[in-house]
Amino acid sequence: MERPASGEVLMSQAIQPAHATARGELSAGQLLKWIDTTACLAARFYVFFEAEKHAGVSCVTASVDDIQFEETARVGQVITIRAKVTRAFSTSMEIHLKPVTLLTEQDHVEHNLAAERRKVRLQHEDTFNNLMKESSKFDDLLFDEEEGAVSTRGTSVQSIELVLPPHANHHGNTFGGQIMAWMETVATISASRLCWAHPFLKSIDMFKFRGPSTVGDRLVFTAIVNNTFQTCVEVGVRVEAFDCQEWAEGRGRHINSAFLIYNAADDKENLITFPRIQPISKDDFRRYRGAIARKRIRLGRKYVISHKEEVPLCIHWDISKQASLSDSNVEALKKLAAKRGWEVTSTVEKIKIYTLEEHDVLSVWVEKHVGSPAHLAYRLLSDFTKRPLWDPHCVSCEVIDWVSEDDQLCHITCPVLNDDKPKDLVVLISRRKPLKDGNTYTVAVKSVILPSVPPSPQYIRSEIICAGFLIHAIDSSSCIVSYFNHISASILPYFAGNLGGWSKSIEETAASCIQFLENPPDDGFISTF
Ligand code: ADP
Repeated sequence: MERPASGEVLMSQAIQPAHATARGELSAGQLLKWIDTTACLAARFYVFFEAEKHAGVSCVTASVDDIQFEETARVGQVITIRAKVTRAFSTSMEIHLKPVTLLTEQDHVEHNLAAERRKVRLQHEDTFNNLMKESSKFDDLLFDEEEGAVSTRGTSVQSIELVLPPHANHHGNTFGGQIMAWMETVATISASRLCWAHPFLKSIDMFKFRGPSTVGDRLVFTAIVNNTFQTCVEVGVRVEAFDCQEWAEGRGRHINSAFLIYNAADDKENLITFPRIQPISKDDFRRYRGAIARKRIRLGRKYVISHKEEVPLCIHWDISKQASLSDSNVEALKKLAAKRGWEVTSTVEKIKIYTLEEHDVLSVWVEKHVGSPAHLAYRLLSDFTKRPLWDPHCVSCEVIDWVSEDDQLCHITCPVLNDDKPKDLVVLISRRKPLKDGNTYTVAVKSVILPSVPPSPQYIRSEIICAGFLIHAIDSSSCIVSYFNHISASILPYFAGNLGGWSKSIEETAASCIQFLENPPDDGFISTF
């Protein structure tokens, strides 16, 4: 361990067999312990060197933002953990951590992002409660017996640990990292009982330590699987602390709850797909919905906080290339739909939401069962002037030009969000009826640059990279409408809020779309487009 001049703390550890899992990989619990120790040291150095008046205070881990585990380290390797105080608030400070194997990376301090993450931390509980309230509206639709779905009964695990001096700091407070390591152990056992394969930790949801525990306490860990999402499983762990008297009285202190996300691999190292969960008890239902809400918050947070700089991808509209632009519009949508790796993020009876993460780019797919014929849904959805009737994210849509029988250029305006200026878009909408013997109708949308509609000072010009509808006929009176959007940074605020639960929900928009397609306005489908 060394303390470079910049105020960083670096800790290197050689990975020994005692730190590793049965597969010879560094155990996530051990890594969490080292991360916590390094963070505590950075905090103490900060307190000693930058704010001497506080000298002597003891630093304890109060909360942890989302942690992602991307690479595995193995026995024999050396791991270096770098910690630095990124920002101090009045009674707390944020440490920026980056475990790196062998070599340290270039330093970069994320001072402003720290404030933004803090806002998200403070909002977290409200957001979660809102999402839970919203999802309970769909309860009636949610839980028909599903084929192949399993109960979580067999995944319940309990373990008890006694806090001894090596588990605590010099004030006798249990190290946060030690508690996290114990949590990880029970959670891993719980996950393995669902799949009988090798679970490995992928991420830990943001959490707060609710209160301290000290040497001599008994800690009771209870864990159970809450939900599964294709190749991921969420395990929840609750920790209660008991001193001698509390133990005798059977009354503990709830000191922490955390939610851990695992993947699992079979013996050939292939990721396994978990069975879907069938909730049974009232607690099962609450936790099942809780896991969905947390997944959505995680996605929203990841993409809001990442602040990606965007390279404009818009193409210039050129009438001489109309046919190829139109074809590539349609092909891009089909390609997006056919990608591997879509994960179910939320499901109610008629509405399923999938997300796809590729190199930090997020795409969303909303699938709806609609009780009207595919050709009608196609006509209604390809007429974008009707979109404001059902989509609260679209204020107006004006046709600028019909460039062919199946292609039009439109100017779309969106509502004001976060007290910013409203956004607008110029898009090419290309539609296709099914080919012979097919049953899929396509309505593809992408932004184009059109000199006749330049950006105006009233609006922030935004961009759709690839979006649209695929409509599959089921029978003569019903269809599946799939809406896709490959989300650009400018469109993201609408979706992140949706996914993260801090604005109108995707389900509400989808339900309103279904309502519109099943009960179209009288003049709704007489469109010249
Ligand atoms: P909630 O039950 O609302 O999720 P808690 O803080 O009580 O919140 O629990 C956190 C998680 O710990 C739960 O989601 C569940 O996965 C797990 N858990 C809680 N209590 C038990 C228990 N008695 N047995 C097994 N697991 C439990």
